[in-house]
Amino acid sequence: MTFKSAQPVTHSDNDRLAKILADPGFVNFFSDHMAQAEWSLEKGWHDPGLVDYQPWSLAPGTAVFHYAQEIFEGLKVYRHADDSLWLFRPEMNAQRFQRSAQRMCLPVLPEDDFLAAVRALAQVDAAWVPKGAEMSYYMRPFLFADEAFLGVHAANKARFAVVGGPAAPYIADGLTPADIWVTTTYSRAGNGGTGAAKCGGNYASSLFAQAEGADHGCSQVLFTDASSHLWVEELGGMNFFLVTSDDHLVTPPTSGTILDGITRDSILTLAPALGLTPQVRPIALAELLDGIADGSVREAFACGTAAVVTPIGCLVHRHDGEIMRSALPQSLGDATRAIRRQLVDVQWGRAEDSYGWLQPVTSN
Ligand SMILES: *Cc1c(COP(=O)(O)O)cnc(C)c1O
Repeated sequence: MTFKSAQPVTHSDNDRLAKILADPGFVNFFSDHMAQAEWSLEKGWHDPGLVDYQPWSLAPGTAVFHYAQEIFEGLKVYRHADDSLWLFRPEMNAQRFQRSAQRMCLPVLPEDDFLAAVRALAQVDAAWVPKGAEMSYYMRPFLFADEAFLGVHAANKARFAVVGGPAAPYIADGLTPADIWVTTTYSRAGNGGTGAAKCGGNYASSLFAQAEGADHGCSQVLFTDASSHLWVEELGGMNFFLVTSDDHLVTPPTSGTILDGITRDSILTLAPALGLTPQVRPIALAELLDGIADGSVREAFACGTAAVVTPIGCLVHRHDGEIMRSALPQSLGDATRAIRRQLVDVQWGRAEDSYGWLQPVTSN
């Protein structure tokens, strides 16, 4: 599919745009356009286009409102010092979008169409990609069942769109250690569930634990496995890593309950060059907490596209009815800092892209 505008495109005036780019928050404003396409059982994919960012009119009976048949992706456009625009491993987002669609009985969007939509939006709204330390344009591709029918079934009609907006770093300097609430009560995903799909429902179901964490002064939640609550899985929207005192970098396997993060995969790839031995294996919660206590676990961090790498300062958890705080020996550790630095340097074009992860926005 080709994502083009049927009308001449119009843009926000420069004064408005300059004001927004000076203080964008994390996508507090959406850019002027969006890419979209429709799918139906009879016609397949059709009506691709680039239109003004605008509200839709959807019937109250639309399936997604009732059964949460929805998936999404998150990726960034990076502006390098020479003003060129780049995407980071976007084919991985396209492929994950396909896997998520299959799991939620939504139509599978061809990889090339996903990439064409992302590129078309980045090109038409290129002026919205900010410049500056860790500033980016964050894109949100999504797909949902838009048939106005209350029967429960695989989608007969679906809508795909990509929206986006300028983004300042998710956490101001990205290096403020976060306090994390460990829940052994609530689950994000269970065996055979939708944990490996990037779907809105997983996020909705994580909010209650998130609120409990906020009551204990925590900004995020670390989830454990749903059946025994003995094994560490991931955060609501970020993967989890620990660093041992003998320089092992450990993360649990993406078994079906843990989302296969692109940042996670990139970090595992970069680790050896930074003197760290990557290890993908289950992590027992007891091993983590005991390791923090005896110093064999030195650092821990969370990772994802939005915040890149977030150092974990402290794990807050319940133990025999008491609230315990386990502070990491290094709340902002050397390994965490080195990994973060290496990743953002590649993304923003300051370090060599040894793995060919960057793709220019303009090529097709
Ligand atoms: C999106 C997401 C991540 C991070 O994935 P990236 O590809 O690195 O952005 C991790 N966990 C969950 C649950 C997610 O939804």
